[in-house]
Formats: sequence, structure tokens, C-alpha cells
Amino acid sequence: MDSFKEVLTRLDLKENNDGVTDGENWFGSGTQVPVISPINGKEIAQVKQGNQKDFERIIQSSVSAFRQWRLVPAPRRGEIVRQFGHALRKHKDALGKLITIEMGKSIQEGWGEVQEMIDICDMAVGQSRMLYGVQTHSERLAHRMFEQWHPLGVCAVITAFNFPVAVWAWNTALALVCGDTILWKPASPVPLTAIACVKILQQVLRDNNTPAGIATLITGRGSEIGDLITTDRRIPLISYTGSTRLGKHIGKVVGERLGKTILELGGNNAVIVTPSANLKLAAQNVLFGAIGTTGQRCTSTRRVIVHESVFEEFKDILVGYYGKVTIGNPLDENILMGPMVNTKAVETMMTAMDTIKQQGGRFIVEGSRLSGPSYPGGCYVKPAIVEVEPDLPIMQEETFAPILYLIKYKHYIKEAIKIHNSVPQGLSSAIFTENLLESEQFLCTEGSDCGIANVNLGTSGAEIGLAFGGEKDTGGGRESGSDAWKGYMRRQTNTVNWSGATILAQGIKFD
Ligand code: NAD
Repeated sequence: MDSFKEVLTRLDLKENNDGVTDGENWFGSGTQVPVISPINGKEIAQVKQGNQKDFERIIQSSVSAFRQWRLVPAPRRGEIVRQFGHALRKHKDALGKLITIEMGKSIQEGWGEVQEMIDICDMAVGQSRMLYGVQTHSERLAHRMFEQWHPLGVCAVITAFNFPVAVWAWNTALALVCGDTILWKPASPVPLTAIACVKILQQVLRDNNTPAGIATLITGRGSEIGDLITTDRRIPLISYTGSTRLGKHIGKVVGERLGKTILELGGNNAVIVTPSANLKLAAQNVLFGAIGTTGQRCTSTRRVIVHESVFEEFKDILVGYYGKVTIGNPLDENILMGPMVNTKAVETMMTAMDTIKQQGGRFIVEGSRLSGPSYPGGCYVKPAIVEVEPDLPIMQEETFAPILYLIKYKHYIKEAIKIHNSVPQGLSSAIFTENLLESEQFLCTEGSDCGIANVNLGTSGAEIGLAFGGEKDTGGGRESGSDAWKGYMRRQTNTVNWSGATILAQGIKFD
């Protein structure tokens, strides 16, 4: 196993790192902060954060780079993104390890996150030749109507701690082929992976003689740097991933200046298990959904709604699987569940479990803090399963921890869907059934109200090929595949008159 230091060295990181770049130089005039690994509670390195002055420097660089970058033909921009994907392939091992060291997810998931970055680069390369606008027939004689998609400007990407780099890459790969420049503010617990990724991208950009300022970065406190970003009219698009509470604030601030947002907020995802379901398959998927990333995915499975006729059998299979989960150092490939991101996250889980008990939840597997030599640093927990009534108040909230609620339904699929849709969030959902009619009911207009609805696979682990995002309190944003690229461009409707005469629409006479 590489030491933390070896991983840092492989990614051109040091004990002290500048946490701001204008695309060319690295600096940081704000506070110097330690970065702590949840694996052992020890310092990995230090980062000099940015301040208001640094922000001004990088926004100017980003605006100026945009003026040139937007003129580069889109397929050429795609070629540069292809090279970035290639560079990520070379650094996959070290980057995956750094994600694990900094954030605590299992190494399999760390490598998976880097693979997701590579995948989106591959997709963006193809997309760079498919920035299609439609055309239609004009109602006027000898007129032609069509639409074009133009680059938008500086795209600010504010990301959450749980996907330290993939969310930035989803935005960056598409925004770059669309002709935008990127200004990134990563989450405070995970600045090192951000610095490493921007360095890799900057090298590719330099090799292609592009203007400086295409990929900028500023680390710092959300309340300070985040506010500078969201209020700045030079940034037409804010792509924000994080909690619903902050997402509502950001939506308001950016809406005030009529800026664009892509909001990817909290989830409260459920799985329905019907009498015809393959219960082993359902339990395996629920297990990965609930304890993957130690319950800290926006798409984590938080609720399972099970028909009473199969409830006990499903519960027994699931509890059996929970008993086999290996918890410990996530750099060890045999470990399924690493630590939570920090001790504050552990506190949140413990407080939620107290509330669940007060509200009448019955623990089947009681979660707890884990301590002892195998669990240094104070961030390791045992995941919990709790049986609850559908109206348990705390279940309306997203508790970002490995706590799984089991709920019984008695009669028809409509009852299960009603329970399923009864929370404010609407990100990801799944049904396990071998009954075609139930599956179609789940997917129809009256079915799941989420942005993602799966049949016979779990709520987490989306592919990049289609749009990712959710409804209701999840914010409505879409990223990744399908036509999500349109969010990074401005649409222009064009009409060309080649008749030589003035012909007004709607038959209006103005002679
Ligand atoms: P968070 O809301 O605490 O922070 C997210 C980001 O916002 C961080 O970079 C933070 O520094 C920044 N921030 C803080 N104050 C700000 C302000 N005033 N203005 C602008 N930015 C500010 O979230 P977190 O704890 O890092 O991540 C967990 C949350 O993210 C969960 O709710 C999870 O569901 C959500 N999430 C959603 C998706 C999705 O795609 N829907 C993906 C990943 C995570």
C-alpha cells in the first residue's frame, strides 16, 4: 500500500500547497488550513486558501480566456478534452487513492470515481461534434428559421465533499467542449484532489497552447468564496452540488440577478420491494445503495418499502448481508465500508439515531461509533437498519449517513408508490419486481416522482450516458449525458429573409 506521501508526490502535491490558480500561476492569500484524512484522523497536507483579492484575480483571468476559447472550433475543444481523459487514465491509480485518503470512500469507489471522469471526457469528445440546433420551416415565404447554440461564458462549479472530483468533471468536460471557461470551488474537506485534477488539466491545456484562465480554482470557506461567486454578474452559470438548504439560498441569490443555475441537491431515495421480487437481488442492491460511500451519496438508498408478505424474509437476507460487511481502512481492497468524512458527520448520524428512537423507530441493526486500533481517527461507524412507520417525521429529511429505514406496505403497488413519493426530495428511486404491470405503474406518470427511476437495480451508481439529476427539493438540475450540454450554452433563434420583401409574421399588414 502506498503511503499518503507517495500518493501526493505522484500527483505533484506537497506538504504545503497553494489552493488557488488563475490558470497559469498558483497562489493563495487566505488562511492556511490542514487537510485531515478520515482514515486515521491525521494531517495529509496543508492548503493555502483563497480570499477576495485572489477571487478577483482568477475571475478576470477566466473572463479574458473565455473571449479566445469561445472562438476555438468545438471539435478542436473536444480533442483537448480527449487528451485530458487520456491524462486521467495515466493518473487513475494515484487519483483514486487520493480520493480515498481525503474523503474516506472505499478504494474501489475511489477508482470508480476517476473512471467516471474518464467516461465523461469520452462522451464530451463525441458531443463536441454534435452541438445540434434544430431548424424548422418559416411561415413566411423565402425565410429560413433555425437555432444555434453559442458558448455561455464563465461557468462556476461549486461541489460537495462526497464526489470530490467526478461532479467537477461532469461539468468541466461538457462546459469545455461548449466553449465555456471553468471556475471551481471544491468542498472544504477535499481540496487536494481538486488541486491535483486542475494541475493535470492545466498541463494538457498548456501542451495545446490555449489561453491561461480556461481552468481556474479557488479553495476557501463556502460562506466567503461561495458568496463572491454566486453574486458576481460576470458568471452567467452557477452549477451547484450540495445540500438542499444551501441550494435554496444559492437559487435565490443567483435568481436575484437572473443568472442561470444547475442545482443538484439532496436526495432521500427509496426502493420498493414487491411480492414477486427476487429478494436476494433486491437485498444486494439495497446493501450497496445504503452502505456504499458509507451512506454519503446523494443517491444512497435511505428507505426500503417492502410488501408485508415478503418483509421478514427480505429483512433476514439483508441483515445477513450487513453482518458480512467489512469496515476499516478503505485503501484495503477487501474493505467494503470506510470511515465517514469527519467527526462532525459521525455526530450527525448519532444525533439522528437518538431522534429515530424518540420518534418510535425500532432498530434491527443498531448503528454505533466504532473505536479501537482498527478504527483510528473517530470517523468509523457501524451502519444501522431501523423498522419504522411510514409517517416517521425524521424520514422526511436526508440524514447523510448509513441509516436505512424499512417500511411495510400492505396492499397494492399504489400504496407503496404513495409512501415512496411522500418526501420533499426527488432524486433516485427503484423497484424490485418481476411483474411487468407493477414495473410499468412505477415508471408511469402516476409512478415515481424522481429524476431517476430504475427497475431491478438500485438507486445509486448512475452511468454518465443519460441526464443525471432530480426533481422537487433535489433542485431540478441535469448534468452528464442526453441533452444536459445545453445547460452550458446560450440558445439563439435565427431567421433569415431571402425574399427581398418585408413580410411580417402572423399576416400583419404594415404598408
Ligand atoms: P454543502 O451544501 O455543505 O456544501 C456544498 C458546497 O457548497 C461546498 O463546496 C461548500 O463550501 C459550498 N458552500 C457553502 N456555503 C456556500 C454559500 N453560501 N454559497 C456558495 N457555496 C457555498 O454539502 P456537502 O456536505 O459538501 O455535500 C453533501 C450534500 O450534497 C448532500 O445533501 C448530498 O445529497 C448533496 N449532493 C447532491 C448531489 C446531486 O447530484 N444531487 C451529488 C452529490 C452531493
